[in-house]
Amino acid sequence: MSLYLKYRPQDFKSVVGQDHAVATIQNALRHGSLTHAYLFSGPRGTGKTSLARIIAKALNCLNFGDEAEPCNECEICDGINKGRLVDLIEIDAASNRGIDEIRELREKIVFSPSQARTKVYIIDEVHMLTKEAFNALLKTLEEPPEHAYFILATTEAHKIPETIISRCQQFNFKRIGVGDIVKRLQDIALEENVKADEEALNLMAKIANGGLRDAIGLFEQMTMNGEIKYDKVAENLGLSGTVLIEKFFQYLLQRQPTKAIEVINQINAQGHSLQQFTSEVIAFLREQMLINIGNSQEVQTIIGFIDIFSNAKLQITQALIPQLPLEIAVIRACQFDINPEQEKPTVGIPLSGASEEKKKKETVGTRDLASEEKNKKEEKTKITNATGEKVELDLEKIKENWQRIIDHIDTPFIRMSFMDGEPVKFEEGSLHLAFTSSTLMDKIAKASNQAVVQKAFESIFGMRINLKLEVKKVTLTPAKKKEEKNDEPSVIEMAKEVFGMSNE
Ligand SMILES: [Zn+2]
Repeated sequence: MSLYLKYRPQDFKSVVGQDHAVATIQNALRHGSLTHAYLFSGPRGTGKTSLARIIAKALNCLNFGDEAEPCNECEICDGINKGRLVDLIEIDAASNRGIDEIRELREKIVFSPSQARTKVYIIDEVHMLTKEAFNALLKTLEEPPEHAYFILATTEAHKIPETIISRCQQFNFKRIGVGDIVKRLQDIALEENVKADEEALNLMAKIANGGLRDAIGLFEQMTMNGEIKYDKVAENLGLSGTVLIEKFFQYLLQRQPTKAIEVINQINAQGHSLQQFTSEVIAFLREQMLINIGNSQEVQTIIGFIDIFSNAKLQITQALIPQLPLEIAVIRACQFDINPEQEKPTVGIPLSGASEEKKKKETVGTRDLASEEKNKKEEKTKITNATGEKVELDLEKIKENWQRIIDHIDTPFIRMSFMDGEPVKFEEGSLHLAFTSSTLMDKIAKASNQAVVQKAFESIFGMRINLKLEVKKVTLTPAKKKEEKNDEPSVIEMAKEVFGMSNE
């Protein structure tokens, strides 16, 4: 049995992070005034179906008393816990049987419960029902028999018809806070005899993004020989050195000094040596230089970076604030080759940090024009979805739903890797994703992982989408046009931006 199932809350007091819903429902149970239809909406893994099952127990428990908790001992509670009480009917609306099951529900609902006092219907992923099925369900919700209760659960409340919502009492389940998740994981660690460092639990809680189920899943996957170690977790989640260096490099190329400095902070916070990091950055830059021979623009930029970081490395040992030389190097690298007065991007090669002022400028041609032209064309593809409707999908629509797609990726590892990708093009049913990190891209490229991602797309758009993965090209972003006539933003200006100092 998975840890998540083992530690699934069995009574109201064990439900984490949904105090409002729990208090209201317990109160209604005490007064015998429970609503016949509930809609539980909210992110995945926040306890919607767990709470629904606790309600089913509370409604039927043979020992239900003043505490308003199911006893978990009587035959009814036991039957529900073991998944074999016939009067609790769980329907997965996402399965193909959805419509048949709703039809069956309509036919059988009039019959009295066979064992328990009430019949409880839990319909999970209810937004996946077809229009037909919703209509059938609505008729039932309009006049439910006295013995029937409905709990509908969904991650996508906006897809539920207003007519259905108006028949239900709705509770919006919140993402569970990092502190609450860590506390729960600590309890489980104690119970399971797992030695887990708090830093690792914290990281997993953050990655789980408010979903306790994901956090417990991670906990399970990360346990090795009765231990959970931060380094192992970081490595598995794609937060290891290699990935960070790849990202660091991309941020420099994209002139995002703030983000590049965040990487340095992360390295520093993890207690790694900045000097070692700088050596690894230089080794990585060398690799990139060798790969890019023949691309004069790229190679010159990379040589410039190598020069800047080599200087920084020499200064780290003597610096009062160890990360300062690196931060200055980041700002210099991001400022490198900016010349807004010319249309075409230019590249300069500073020979050392000090001679940067006098750097010679060299104009180079704009690259990859043809493919940029192609990208401008609005790509729309008509695809037939599961229910036979023609759906028009384009890059904009995919981008609008990006966060939802991420939320729908079931496995935290895969979600983490996927988040590194950026949708760049949609063409003939294929979505092109550009990754900062080739390590993370390779994870998504694995067929089994890709299937998980595709499932997420399918649940949002109701159709299958092919993925084309690529590593972001070494692209020199043209400098932002500055209002001032000034040639280039100075190091000081960039520093102000990075360190949050204003001009006023
Ligand atoms: Zn009971």
